[in-house]
Amino acid sequence: MTGKGHRLTGVGAGFFAAAFVHVLGFSYSAEAIAALAAAFSTTLPDLIEIPIYKRGARTRTLIPHRTITHWPPLWFGIMYGAYYYLEPYYACALIGMSVGALAHILADAPNPLGIPWVLPHKRIAIFGGLWRSGENEKMMVTVFTLFGVGSWLYAHQNTVAGQYLTHLWVWLWT
Ligand SMILES: [Zn+2]
Repeated sequence: MTGKGHRLTGVGAGFFAAAFVHVLGFSYSAEAIAALAAAFSTTLPDLIEIPIYKRGARTRTLIPHRTITHWPPLWFGIMYGAYYYLEPYYACALIGMSVGALAHILADAPNPLGIPWVLPHKRIAIFGGLWRSGENEKMMVTVFTLFGVGSWLYAHQNTVAGQYLTHLWVWLWT
């Protein structure tokens, strides 16, 4: 997926992160922190590879592309550690960040290059790659957004805000 595509999946990742920390029992302000952290972290796995530029063009990265930073167990581990060992607001920031990073990895996964599902240095492509970077981006962004908003509404179905927004959602789409 391109950088623009990754940034657009931030909307879905933000809603999903809010839904997730709500289910974990955090407050509304913590949800907002998680949502913001997720929304701005969907480019993180590429960013922390530390790209090296030569005459304005990205030539290589300090950390090999799509290895440890694109390794799902790393982000699940950060989430787990944050949930059990950190104060609520720090925990929500890190959980949101991990959700954003995982959304990035998921969006990269259909490429022929693949992502390291099991071992951090061994990339695996699904069926040899479903489509190339930049293809089907609108479809993927739409799926991420609908899934994120849908999970937020589902997680909040017993709250006034959730019921109100679900009615609005149903009214808009039927
Ligand atoms: Zn990437």
